[in-house]
Amino acid sequence: MYSYYIIIISFHTVNCNTNTTDFKLHVAKHLMSLIEKALILPGELLFEEAKKIRDKIFNKKIYLRAIIEFSNVCVNDCAYCGIRRSADVKRYAMKEEEIVKLAQYAEDIGYGTIVLQSGQNSIYDESLCEVIREIKETTSLAVTLSCGEKSFETYKKWKESGADRYLLKQETSNPELFRKLTNRSLEKRFACLKALLDLNYETGSGNIVGLPEQKLEDIAKDIVTFAEWNFDMLGIGPFIPCYGTPLENCRAGDVELTMKVIAISRIVCKDVNIPATTALRTKVGEVSNIFDCGANVVMGNVTPYEYKKLYRIYPGKVCVFYEPESWLENMKELIKSCGLKPSGERGSRKKGRFKPNFKTLEKIVEKLNNLSEDLTSWEKRLEIENITKDCSKLL
Ligand code: SF4
Repeated sequence: MYSYYIIIISFHTVNCNTNTTDFKLHVAKHLMSLIEKALILPGELLFEEAKKIRDKIFNKKIYLRAIIEFSNVCVNDCAYCGIRRSADVKRYAMKEEEIVKLAQYAEDIGYGTIVLQSGQNSIYDESLCEVIREIKETTSLAVTLSCGEKSFETYKKWKESGADRYLLKQETSNPELFRKLTNRSLEKRFACLKALLDLNYETGSGNIVGLPEQKLEDIAKDIVTFAEWNFDMLGIGPFIPCYGTPLENCRAGDVELTMKVIAISRIVCKDVNIPATTALRTKVGEVSNIFDCGANVVMGNVTPYEYKKLYRIYPGKVCVFYEPESWLENMKELIKSCGLKPSGERGSRKKGRFKPNFKTLEKIVEKLNNLSEDLTSWEKRLEIENITKDCSKLL
């Protein structure tokens, strides 16, 4: 059955003859309708299966990663973001030596990966090379970068300096919605993702669930895209409205829906690294439920308080008031209380070990459909979609 296997659907790079394109679009539609059904159905069976797959692949390990939010300077003006260019927030840019010292500290307290994150700016285009080199020379940390859209040459320089991974979320695979929210082009975003994959970065994408005007089919397309591009990491979090942004009065994304997106992504993409994102933890708290949907990574913030309080991409972020070491100890206990194993290993993904496929998801949807026909009712769909619609006039 074609639907059991991912074939290149190329939503973003259609580049084939008409017959092949028709066939691919047909397959894409089939997969999207399957995911839309799964998103409407109750989550329990999805969560159960997602956990089973995670526990088998990762041997019940949850990877702990440290994050340094080294600058909140950003040239972009994304409508959902509290540190957007036009936001009234005090800006900071940490010194290079400070970043290196914090990375070394992260290794000392037991982390195996450091994530260096900033708004999109050109302040560090050159100097980050030295930061990465020094971290790699003085620690055995894996280095993940998350600094936005850059030229191929900049990504290349950073890779050659020793960076291992790069996170650049697609946010939504709906090009019009992406344009409205960011005033940027989704095509460019995917060109950057392609550059990162070509340069052999372990590459991460992800989405925001519950954006105004986002439809279930957009979310389904996000998941098909995750599988099609075979990303190594997926950051999936609910939309959280931030004061001082055009979307401040919008309703937040639904937690259960977000957890279903994580669970389906786990079921389809298998061994991909999926964090229980800070956005999700901000909505539900630091509770055991965050691992219920198949996430296998959690990030601890080692940024000093004076800076991290200013990195407010949305309000109420967890981690801001905790000391890194006490947070880490509490998180390890929480992980153990779920019958899982906290791990400070690097936790890199070995590409090619598993191929994304939709076979298990098809079986689950079939089973749930047989349990009750009501479950896929249009009322349920409308209820979910209405959650995402109430701000459409603001965009
Ligand atoms: S989401 Fe990222 S790129 Fe967009 S404004 Fe915020 S920090 Fe900048």
